Amino acid sequence: MRLLLVEDDPMIGEGIRKGLRQDGFAVDWVRDGQAAELAVANDVYDLVVLDLGLPRKDGLEVLAGLRRKGNSVPVLVLTARDAVPDRIKGLNSGADDYVVKPFDLDELGARIRALLRRRAGRADPVIEYGELTVNASTHQAMFHGQDLALSAREFAVLEALLERPGAILSRAQLEERLYGWGEEVESNAVEVYVHSLRRKLGADFIRNVRGVGYMIPKRP
Ligand code: CA
Repeated sequence: MRLLLVEDDPMIGEGIRKGLRQDGFAVDWVRDGQAAELAVANDVYDLVVLDLGLPRKDGLEVLAGLRRKGNSVPVLVLTARDAVPDRIKGLNSGADDYVVKPFDLDELGARIRALLRRRAGRADPVIEYGELTVNASTHQAMFHGQDLALSAREFAVLEALLERPGAILSRAQLEERLYGWGEEVESNAVEVYVHSLRRKLGADFIRNVRGVGYMIPKRP
C-alpha cells in the first residue's frame, strides 16, 4: 500500500513515516500543501494522511481541491486537540476520517487499515483463502492452522495479491506498494519476497505470469 503523508512538523512527520513503514506501508512525505497537490497529480496513492495547518496551502484547501477534481482517494485528516470546527470542516470537505493530535501511532495505523479495507469493499480485516487466513489489522497469518511468520514486506506482497485473486500485479506495481520515495528499491526485491512466500506457502501458491507479473488464482 502506498501512502502520501502531508505534514510540516519534522518530528511528527518522521515519527509517522517510520511507524507506517514498519507497518509495511510505502510512505511518501511532503511538507506543504502545494507539494501535496503536485504529488497526488503525479502519483497514485492508496490513501493520504493530511495535516490541516500547512505552509503554502492549507490542508482543507488541498482536500477541497482534490474532491473538486473528482479524486476520491481516502483521506485521513490530522487535527489539533480542540479544533472541533476544523474536524467538522474536514469531514464536510470530503475527509474520510480524522485523528486528533497527539495520537498513538498504533491508532493511526489501525484507522488507516480500516479505511483501506472499506475502500477495498471489505469491512472484515480477515481474508480467508483456502488453508490460509490473513488478518490485515493484526498482521498475523495462519496456514494449515499454524502461525505463519512473515516479514512486513512479505506480508505486504501477500496482502496485495490476496486482495484481488485472479488479478495480475506487475513487478512495478508491487514495488510501488513496498517502497516510498527516497527508499532504494533493491533489485529483484519482489522476486525475493515472492520466492520466500512460495517457500512458506507452496511453489504454486503465487503464479508467475511470464512477462506480466504475479497473481494468486481466483480459487485456492
Ligand atoms: Ca502543521
